[in-house]
Amino acid sequence: MTTPTLNHWSGGAELPGRAGRYSEVTDPATGAVTARLALAEQSEVDAVVAAATAAFPAWRDTSLARRTQVLFRFRELLNARKDELAALITAEHGKVLSDAAGEVTRGQEVVEFACGILHLLKGSASVNASTKVDVTSVRQPVGPVAIIGPFNFPAMVPMWFFPIAIAAGNTVVLKPSEKVPSAALWLARLWQEAGLPDGVFNVLNGDKVAVDGLLTHPDIKAVSFVGSTPIARYVYETGTAHGKRVQALGGAKNHMVVLPDADLDLAADQAVNAGYGSAGERCMAISALVAVGDIADELVARIADRTRALRTGDGRRDCDMGPLVTAAARDRVTGYIEAGQAAGAELVVDGRETKPDADGDGFFIGPTLFDHVTTDMSIYTDEIFGPVLSVVRVDTYDEAIALINANPYGNGTAIFTNDGGAARRFADEIEVGMVGINVPVPVPVAYHSFGGWKNSLFGDTHAHGVEGVHFFTRGKVITTRWLDPSHGGINLGFPQNT
Ligand code: NAD
Repeated sequence: MTTPTLNHWSGGAELPGRAGRYSEVTDPATGAVTARLALAEQSEVDAVVAAATAAFPAWRDTSLARRTQVLFRFRELLNARKDELAALITAEHGKVLSDAAGEVTRGQEVVEFACGILHLLKGSASVNASTKVDVTSVRQPVGPVAIIGPFNFPAMVPMWFFPIAIAAGNTVVLKPSEKVPSAALWLARLWQEAGLPDGVFNVLNGDKVAVDGLLTHPDIKAVSFVGSTPIARYVYETGTAHGKRVQALGGAKNHMVVLPDADLDLAADQAVNAGYGSAGERCMAISALVAVGDIADELVARIADRTRALRTGDGRRDCDMGPLVTAAARDRVTGYIEAGQAAGAELVVDGRETKPDADGDGFFIGPTLFDHVTTDMSIYTDEIFGPVLSVVRVDTYDEAIALINANPYGNGTAIFTNDGGAARRFADEIEVGMVGINVPVPVPVAYHSFGGWKNSLFGDTHAHGVEGVHFFTRGKVITTRWLDPSHGGINLGFPQNT
């Protein structure tokens, strides 16, 4: 059987790769190579951006009513066929099918939000701001935009951005992660079926060459990026240096604080869900559990019992947790487990011993639990991006807050407590963009905005919600006076309202 080749999608049709450079797409549960992916060279970047640029004027001028009709059709098709998309995600990412379906549902929420674009783009007007002068504020699309995605949410993360970008009248070039390209290509065909004009949504496959091509291309006006912190910083600096509006969401190290008065069973359940869901490959995963006071022994025991009961295996089978995305990712996580042991942390559950329920040679490592982790160990300082949960013990609530605020990342955090006052103070003082109170993975709903602080986001605007609408539009203020002979005459003074 020959391995299929995945190409670009440009102007409503497949654009075969011509660079002669390819990467391998694998099924992480079996280790099998399932496709080869065409990696773009500059001429292909130019061709795809040209398609988006050509489609922009007509799409910008398409009425809100017609744009919204396309969005509604896209939503209906996505909803009806989400299992197909979930299967593609599991086959390339490895997460279990139910988790993949959950990802699609969260992406669909943003499509539903974007269906309300008529209301969101209404602008505002002041009649008679000066005598017989009206002032109107409107928001207009920015032009062709680039969206560059990470591997861990092949559908949801691009959907944080493109439904709003398209609804607002922009055209899109999506550059998915080269590890998980099929979801983007599937979504492109779905847009076409929904009636989106050709060229409004395009997919460019590739690596750094494609990213750099987009960041420096004069016709790309805005860039939404999601990935690791070093690349996010690079994308932000390069894109803005080339005159683009950039929002670049980076990595994370998310802490979950458990106070002595918390319900320990609830906290243990949620620590396991948030630590090991999607094999820890979520930017909102909990990787550091901060146990406050004398509950630590009991809490660790309850988490350990639950961790040992998890079933790891092929995401298409009846399992809780799938493999890591690549062999390199698995080896990286193994390296961190070795480093944690060498640094003196107590290895309570060792994922290297897990026997996965899978055929072939998949990239598995089971859920791993460390206790007595200190802040100088690499398992604490680094974003491992795998199923490794580290318990850090502190004596006081103040220590827990100081620990989190000293961390260079600020994506998500959670506190488990029954003390309203303690929770309120936490929400107020913690320097993190998304906070959960007895909620371990506080991913905001589509009509609020998603984004971290500090090294977890470069730029000013968070994803989706009203901030997303602002990112993909530019403000314009129109001051109008219809001819009135009584206001004629020369006056070089600064305009004043009368
Ligand atoms: P990554 O940074 O390796 O890749 C992200 C994108 O950047 C990909 O499209 C990739 O092709 C491109 N890229 C990689 N190296 C590049 C380079 N040298 N120059 C230019 N472009 C390059 O990230 P990943 O491994 O795909 O995803 C996991 C990371 O994403 C984690 O750090 C995770 O925390 C982060 N993430 C953050 C959020 C968030 O909302 N803050 C959400 C999801 C994932």
